[in-house]
Amino acid sequence: MRASQLLLPTVKEDPAGAEAISHKLMVRAGLVRQLAAGIYVYLPAGWRVMQKIAAIIRGEMDGIGCQEMLMPVINPAEIWQQSGRWDAIGGELFRFKDRKGADMALAMTHEEVITWLAAREVHSYKQLPQLWYHIQTKERDEARPKSGVLRTREFIMKDSYSLDVSYEALQESYAKHIAAYDRIYARCGVEAMMVEGDSGMMGGSVSHEYMAYADAGEDEIVFCRACGYAANVEMAVAGADREPPQSESQAAAGAGAAVDLTVDEVRSTPGAKTIDQVVEFLGLPARAFMKALVVTVEDGAEGRQVMVLLRGDHELSELKLRKALGAEFRLATADEVLAAQGIAPGYVGPEPTTLPVYADEVLRRGHYVAGANKADHHRTGVSLAMVPQATFCDLRKARAGDPCPQCAADLDGARVIEVGNIFQLGTKYSEPMGATFLDVDGKEQPIVMGSYGIGLARIAAAAIEQHHDGNGIVWPPSIAPFEAHLVLVRASDEVQAALAEQLYAELAAAGLDVLFDDRDMSPGIKFKDADLLGCPAQIVVGKRAPEGVVELKDRASGERRDVPVAELALALGELLGRG
Ligand code: ATP
Ligand code: MG
Repeated sequence: MRASQLLLPTVKEDPAGAEAISHKLMVRAGLVRQLAAGIYVYLPAGWRVMQKIAAIIRGEMDGIGCQEMLMPVINPAEIWQQSGRWDAIGGELFRFKDRKGADMALAMTHEEVITWLAAREVHSYKQLPQLWYHIQTKERDEARPKSGVLRTREFIMKDSYSLDVSYEALQESYAKHIAAYDRIYARCGVEAMMVEGDSGMMGGSVSHEYMAYADAGEDEIVFCRACGYAANVEMAVAGADREPPQSESQAAAGAGAAVDLTVDEVRSTPGAKTIDQVVEFLGLPARAFMKALVVTVEDGAEGRQVMVLLRGDHELSELKLRKALGAEFRLATADEVLAAQGIAPGYVGPEPTTLPVYADEVLRRGHYVAGANKADHHRTGVSLAMVPQATFCDLRKARAGDPCPQCAADLDGARVIEVGNIFQLGTKYSEPMGATFLDVDGKEQPIVMGSYGIGLARIAAAAIEQHHDGNGIVWPPSIAPFEAHLVLVRASDEVQAALAEQLYAELAAAGLDVLFDDRDMSPGIKFKDADLLGCPAQIVVGKRAPEGVVELKDRASGERRDVPVAELALALGELLGRG
């Protein structure tokens, strides 16, 4: 491809409001353009990256015997009604009516179509197992599209589905996918870790998420270098606290005057409503406090309130609370708190309360400062021995430094992007949608299913998050838009131009993806563009062209060396890891 003809609109400025480095670099390098919130155009170089990722995924899926097909984006509402998701899913599902007034949906995933198909085409155990996949557009009306292509409303996913006769057989299909996914991320140059996913409110089903390290990640995981345990902070079992429960000695170690936490005393804390404010006011560490949240449980027409207690320095895992309550919940409004507890938010505490109390495990022991249920006052000496109705459970987010729940070593933490998700669906779709088969005994059984997704754009963006420098992208060779960027320093120099043309033809003939910067522009602009676009090898045809020598630059290491043309193919092979 000649740069003079390629639509590669590089720009100096970061897009307005962009925070994620992958977002900034994809726009600046001329890979994508935003058409509307969460809706993107892939420009030629960006699309090449997506195609290379697709090819790697396709190879690995074919490799485990998964059959490629194509399912439509437009779905009749009927199949979504049969699975129950027409009602269960909210605004994320794009819905519309066709000209005849029939309800339709834009597929956000394809379990429904797969199950519809299986119900028609699979009849006997003899046809199973089946592995089916497609690489197709998904539509999701995300509440908050953000971070460039990381969270968009239209995106391309590889989704595959396994159909098996039993849960044991499903384990095999699942294991094949795990092996394929490990290879996909490795081949794409993305470091990803498999963590246990949320198995859903009612438990039972198994799922795993693939998390790629990235500062722009919306998720946080904890992981153990000693035993390999890894989980989302929302999910990870928060181990027992390493430090002893709060006592007067710890309290005295706070910044302010010593406070005996075991003494039951109401103290004036005017205006100090948040943990940060009381920490500052009393000069005690956050872990000396017990914070009380009042939440409204959304399990019936009339919401009921529940008090949730966490230590001052801990954060609530919404997922764990949802599981403990067995229902959705939301933070209670100020009016609800007032009605339920007789005091406005800010000074709420468990002593006294008539509300059901859910307390985090670490609060079983120790004395704390809590809201005094009186405006502008907190109370010391509060222990949950005073609150007989308290139910203790693991409610806090795990964090780095916590003991590993498997081996007790220190956990590490990282921000991550979810790049893939695999799920043992079981009979969740096959039962309501009537996808059954006749088993060896001629008995009708529901097909046992699995589903497996990978977002192509998230792989591209995660690769950039993990591989870039101050000058631009540093693509892993396998998914770079071009393997080599051939830069003709002076287009007006006949010798240089002739050598560059010759190399372009030769390298292309040798099967290399080459971008030839033949533009009549200043060398400085060309070098900047080459670094920004980040192809792994840069071949610079300049001053030493008359001797038949070019400069080869390794984008990743920045290393440059002069190479005689005759040795270029070999040197390139080494640089690209093909050698
Ligand atoms: P998230 O929790 O980030 O919203 P999800 O769990 O809803 O994602 P899945 O339904 O598991 O996503 O989809 C499978 C894969 O598709 C994800 O692992 C991710 O790689 C990709 N994906 C999901 N939503 C988006 C999106 N809005 N934009 C880009 N890629 C996405
Ligand atoms: Mg997911």
